[in-house]
Amino acid sequence: MISKVEAIARPRLPAADFLARLAAIIGEKNLLTAATDMAGYLVEPRDLFHGKALCVARPGSTAEVAAVVALCAETSTKIVPQGGNTGLVGGQTPSERGDEIIVSLTRMNRLREIDPSSNTLIVEAGMTLAQVQAEADRAERYFPLSLAAEGSCTIGGNLATNAGGTAVLAYGNARDLTMGLEVVLADGRILSNLSKLKKDNTGYDLNNLFIGSEGTLGIITAAVLKLYPKPRAIETAFVGVRDPHQALRLLDLTHAMTGGEVKTFELIPRIGLDFVLVHGKNMRDPLPSAHQHYVLLELAAQSDGLAERLIALLEKAMEDGIIEDAAIAASLEQRRAFWRLREFLPDAQGYEGGSIKHDVSVPISDVPAFLEEVEAAVTKRIPGARLVAFGHLGDGNIHCNLSQPLGADKAGFLALWDAINALVHAIVAAHHGSISAEHGIGQLKRKLLPQVKDPVALDLMRTLKAALDPQGIFNPGKVL
Ligand code: ZN
Repeated sequence: MISKVEAIARPRLPAADFLARLAAIIGEKNLLTAATDMAGYLVEPRDLFHGKALCVARPGSTAEVAAVVALCAETSTKIVPQGGNTGLVGGQTPSERGDEIIVSLTRMNRLREIDPSSNTLIVEAGMTLAQVQAEADRAERYFPLSLAAEGSCTIGGNLATNAGGTAVLAYGNARDLTMGLEVVLADGRILSNLSKLKKDNTGYDLNNLFIGSEGTLGIITAAVLKLYPKPRAIETAFVGVRDPHQALRLLDLTHAMTGGEVKTFELIPRIGLDFVLVHGKNMRDPLPSAHQHYVLLELAAQSDGLAERLIALLEKAMEDGIIEDAAIAASLEQRRAFWRLREFLPDAQGYEGGSIKHDVSVPISDVPAFLEEVEAAVTKRIPGARLVAFGHLGDGNIHCNLSQPLGADKAGFLALWDAINALVHAIVAAHHGSISAEHGIGQLKRKLLPQVKDPVALDLMRTLKAALDPQGIFNPGKVL
């Protein structure tokens, strides 16, 4: 079996000749072959997946990416595209075989165009998300995609994985923020679809094939992104609530009283806040007494009086017994402090030993019941295990991460990863949810996909893969 895979994968050229041709395309210094130079590209942030690679190629232009892919097509060499290497499902990590090349897009980080009248930005794939946000800001516009890794993740990776984050509620995910794409196809041709058109009904939506394809259908090299007016006011509150039922009532009330102004609605359980306060630096509990759950609520508006609307909302919620307490950020510094509590949560959980992760979504109205069922099931299976269920309640997307019992053996706990996943995913299925809300499939959930995906949908995905990448050179062993 292994020899068969290797026979297909092995480049027809001797490795030295292949590398020499690659170097001729991208320049010697942009071709990394030494183990020390490649090390950072071969592991992912959670250290779950490790790989080996023939080399790391760092092309500097779309033409170079196209030439690299053409060479790989000619030699049947497999390619793992990589952006900022922040993905959480191993989609950017090569296999252990060592016969793949990594194509890192990080040198392609130029701004190609900004068009304030069309409210569009054209950027190359390797630009970091934070830099995209900054370019929009410089043009007095707003690019709303926002997530914890934004300082190092790249926009190309965000699009390849259809990233979500903390502003999906108001603005949608990466897919919703994209108008056009430039993609290098498996035969080295360039699909130039950098359209700024709001209306274009000329056939199939090819862009959306590549968004969320996790590098299995093509390499995204540039994109036309949608820009929004900069919010004139942003108000942030840290709210204490009894349980997720009350948090959901607050979400309903917030929609009713502020319309489209709710930008972020994040659920944080007390245990998660405790972890952050214990393990974080300069973290302070924003409320004087403890509550079982919290909501990080952020409103954004173009019109005046937002602070008054937030106060009215919280007063009404208090009157109706929906919330127990709330603090409103009085300064930018305080707002940042609230956000740090939320953003440090996954890291803080790391200090508590092993953590079995789930990135799941269910219909928003099902979230409270879903969380109760998950808590009951996982603590029955592993008494003392600590459920830290946090995240994007406003999107029905909760990161149901399970920390090991205090004093338990980490390896022994993590050995139950698949069993716990199966338990949680069964509850997800019962609520008609998704086992990957925003992180993708990658390697981590590849074997689960056939269990949860509609067989016809899966068959269509395979048909598309075979049509667009007949040699299977793009990101093998990922998604399908
Ligand atoms: Zn998330």
